[in-house]
Amino acid sequence: MPFPELLIQGYRAFRSGRLAREQGRFRELAESGQSPDVMVIGCCDSRVSPEVIFDARPGELFVVRNVANIVPPYEPDGHAHGVSAALEFGVAALRVKHIVVLGHAHCGGVKAFADEAAPLSPGDFIGNWMRIMAPAAAKVGPRGGLSRTDYIMRLEQANVVNSLDNLMTFPRLRSLVEGGQIAIHGAYFGVATGDLLVRDETTGEFVPVAADERAPFLAR
Ligand SMILES: [Zn+2]
Repeated sequence: MPFPELLIQGYRAFRSGRLAREQGRFRELAESGQSPDVMVIGCCDSRVSPEVIFDARPGELFVVRNVANIVPPYEPDGHAHGVSAALEFGVAALRVKHIVVLGHAHCGGVKAFADEAAPLSPGDFIGNWMRIMAPAAAKVGPRGGLSRTDYIMRLEQANVVNSLDNLMTFPRLRSLVEGGQIAIHGAYFGVATGDLLVRDETTGEFVPVAADERAPFLAR
């Protein structure tokens, strides 16, 4: 099978558009190296690309994506840990100032966990992986009278908070957060609405960002 035509066409558009405009920036970044201030931990979901949502330019975001934007707890057990390696690089080498855990609506990983469905794939990686969010589900509690949509949304947001909690199990990161050198944030993207919610650290609520700018835009 040939290289996907979608990618060839996309690359052509990138070359004549963005690359043409930003060639200088790419060259500069190649020479000076990257120094992004913001690290984003997001989901693999093809609808929630952080660079698209935050309209980011090359060099601005250090991104790690995995199924359901999960941060596993600190486990220096000699096994390979992808998120932990990215965190170590982002924190110790790049010295990012912000870490954002970006959750989203309609998250397949969270849904699979909620349904206690058979793993999405024939192997058992996803089931095992999603178990990391068990403390989040325990905090949300049983579905009770909640609609399925509301219940899943709560799980998705609790899963973001669980990842924030797990970030604090990394000793070096924890001391940087406590010393005010790094801030960690939770955010949630509504795929259908395009709304971005950011977690208020004091209340724990997810609050819409720029909602006032969006309302007139939608009314147009
Ligand atoms: Zn997802």
